[in-house]
Formats: sequence, structure tokens, C-alpha cells
Amino acid sequence: MSVKEVRTRFAPSPTGYMHVGNLRTALYTYLIAKHSNGKFILRIEDTDQERYVPDAVKVIFDTLKMTGLNHDEGPDIGGSVGPYVQSERRGIYLQYAKELVEKGEAYYCFCDKERLDSLKDGSEIFKYDGHCRNLSKEDVEKNLSEGKPYVIRQKNPTEGVTTFEDEIYGTISVDNSELEDMILMKSDGLPTYNFANVVDDHLMGITHVVRGNEYLSSAPKYNRLYNAFGWDVPTYIHCPPIMKDAHNKLSKRNGDASFGDLLEKGYLKEAVLNFIALLGWNPGTEQEIFTLPELVEQFDYKNIHKAPSIFDSVKLRWMNGEYIKKLTLDEFHKLATPYYEKVFSSDELALLNTLKISELLQTRVEVLNEIPEMVVFFKELPEHDIDLYSHKKMKTNSENSLVSLEKALPVLESLEDWSFTSIHDAIFALIGEMGVKNGIVLWPLRTALSGQPSSPGGAFELAEIMGKEESLRRIRIGIEKLK
Ligand code: GLU
Repeated sequence: MSVKEVRTRFAPSPTGYMHVGNLRTALYTYLIAKHSNGKFILRIEDTDQERYVPDAVKVIFDTLKMTGLNHDEGPDIGGSVGPYVQSERRGIYLQYAKELVEKGEAYYCFCDKERLDSLKDGSEIFKYDGHCRNLSKEDVEKNLSEGKPYVIRQKNPTEGVTTFEDEIYGTISVDNSELEDMILMKSDGLPTYNFANVVDDHLMGITHVVRGNEYLSSAPKYNRLYNAFGWDVPTYIHCPPIMKDAHNKLSKRNGDASFGDLLEKGYLKEAVLNFIALLGWNPGTEQEIFTLPELVEQFDYKNIHKAPSIFDSVKLRWMNGEYIKKLTLDEFHKLATPYYEKVFSSDELALLNTLKISELLQTRVEVLNEIPEMVVFFKELPEHDIDLYSHKKMKTNSENSLVSLEKALPVLESLEDWSFTSIHDAIFALIGEMGVKNGIVLWPLRTALSGQPSSPGGAFELAEIMGKEESLRRIRIGIEKLK
């Protein structure tokens, strides 16, 4: 028996940004295809767009490319495989709508705006009353020959039940009386999203339809279209929503819903992809960090949860930190540099060894946009109180800190080689001479250099990065403060 090739598609409408929920749909769609060595298709559903969003398709295209969710087929666009774009396929849908009219499964509707508005009863949501359902063939012909504007509507039965299977939500049955005669072809000659979606899924041989559960209520109408044409019904996989909290869906207004915004904040694309894979799915093991090939191998849509998932920003931060740690130092440095440029002038940068700063930060940063506040003390000694010198565990206070700094200053002044090792060796020799615990000298030094209760790196690292002149200046300031 030959097994049917698995073919999936991501079919976004261009909105101008990539909602993480949509990216999750894209990811799951991709994973289902690739898990079975099948094909993943990208189709832009732009026939219902009332507002033209410039570059909206580019956002989708670039996001998928960037995240490695590469599609397998599509029209040639200057040597590479483009997405299918429904508005460019406008010529193919009308014949299918006409076929449905022939079969008695659809009808021409000539109701004008005024009449439809009169049905609205003050609200935007209304159900078409079926006024044109039973127009005679002659009347239809006459209206068409007079050039009257029309739409084509699906003709749904008013009795009985439509039943279909969803892989996540199980068997769904809906009374046909609840199904609206939705518009298939609009008066501008373009198909609606609802119609083009079904026609294209058939023409493109889609076997598994993955989408958000907001489409579950339309699914009976789609199902009826497949049946009316006599086409194979695909496997439906409606994914539960991603929530901000127990009551609210994650929306762009929350600030975390847009993939682009997350990248801008300094999340790594790999980390976000890994994180969203787990929003509603897990392999049933403890594993949390997955490469894309690992996801391909382990993903099984049967394990998608029915319960909505909560977007846990704390977990995303943690995961991003894990991805940052896995970068090479050079890779991290490259990503961190634009954030240094936000803090330091080019003259300041020329004097700073930012590669060394990167070395300190890489294990401490969770999200790249934390970098400026973590490094700004290198630029300017922050205002700070002498209380910072008192550390219970280190057993330091303002008196012994003053002694330590006063002793350390001449030792450091006399150093010719200002490297980590020579600073380290000189200060440890001093500690030995003083016969005190390390912290008695190291804590005041670190505090004087950073002016902060914590810093990325200890006294030697900070001193090396700041250079001799600035380090000595800050130690002198510390001495003055403590006197
Ligand atoms: N164009 C729809 C959207 O952007 C996709 C629905 C589907 O995948 O069938 O949400």
C-alpha cells in the first residue's frame, strides 16, 4: 500500500507582524510535514485584506527564512521559491464557485449594501437571511446580463447536523441551522479567505490543516465545501490559544506577542522558536532545549494539548539565557556590540576592551537588552553610598575598607603591566602581607570600581577592563568617600 505524502501549509493573512501564535502554527505545520518527510508549503492569504499593509508579506517570508522554517514549493521568484499568493491566483476560484452553484451548493446573491445594512439591526454581526437562495435561474441570468453586482454564497441546509473530526478537539457536531450562508466570491471578483482557503488546500494536496482554534467554528462550513466538491477532507488540527494569563489571550498590545518585538528586545530567534514549540506541546520527557532537527524528530501532533497554554515570560528569559550561553564568545560579542554602542561613544569604545566585557556578560545576560544597564557603570561611576562597602559575609565595613583601599592604591599605582594576572598577583601578595581574608580587600576594590552592589565580574576583571588610569581614579574616589 502506498502511503500518501504528508503535505502541510502555513497560510497566514498578511497583518504586518508575526504573532507568536502564528509562528507556533507555522512551526507545528512545518514539524508535522518534516516529521514524515513530507512537504511544507507557504501560502499568503491576502484576498480579504481591506487594509494594505506594506511589507506584510516580507515580514512573513523573512520570519520563516530566519527561523529555518523553509518551504518546499511555490512559484519561481527570480531564482528562488516564492510563496503562493492568493491574490495572484485570483483567476482560478470563480470556476469552482460556479461549479458549486451548478451543484445547488451555492447561489448568486444580489443583495445590495442597503438591504444588508437593514439586516444588521444595529450590530455588525448579522446572519444573512437567505433572501437570494431561491432566485429563479431566469432572474439570476437577467441580473447577471444587466451587470448587477453580485456575490456567491454557500448554500447550507437549514436542517440536520454537520459532523467532523478534529485531532485536538475530537468529534464536533454543529446544527446546520447555525451555519451562515457565507460569501465565497466577493463582488470585487476575489474569493473570500474562507473559500480560497479550501480550494487551495485541495489544489495543493494538503493532507493536514493546522490552524488556530478561532477557526473551529468555521470548520463545519469548510467541511461542507469539501463534501460538496467530493474532495478528500484533510486532517484538522486546531491549536488552542496562547494566553497571557488565565483570562486574556496574548495580544500584540501585551508587547510580547510579536516575534519581531521579541527579537528587538534581545531574544534569540532559536530560543523563541524552542519556547513556542513547548507552548501546547511536549514530548513527555524532561527535555526542554531542542534544536529544530530534534523537534522534527520528536514532534507528534497527537501530543498537542487541548488546554490553552500560558506564555511564561520568566521561562522564555531563562531559555534565552541558556541559548546565549551556548553561543561562541565571538557570536555573543557580535550580538552584544550594538548594545555597547548604545552606551559608549566611539572614543570610549576605542579604549574599552569590550570583548572582555562580553566574556563577563555571556553567562549572566538573559535578554540582550539588559546589556546597557549592566555595563553603564564602566562609562561613569554611579552615585553610590558608602553603605555598599559594608558586607556582612565578607566582614567588611567602612573602616577596614578604607584601610584596604589605601594599601591597594600604591600597589596598583606601581604596576607596569596592567593585566588580569599582574593585578591579581599584586593584590594577592598584599592580602598575604596584610594577613586578612580575601574579601577584606577584594570587596572594597570591587565596590570602588563599580559603585554598585553587584557587577558582572570581580575586582580584577573590572580593573583590567577599565584600564589603570580609570581604576586608580575610582579607587581614589572611594578613599575620599570613606575618609
Ligand atoms: N489565513 C488564516 C489566518 O491568517 C489562516 C487560516 C488557516 O490556516 O486555514 O489566520
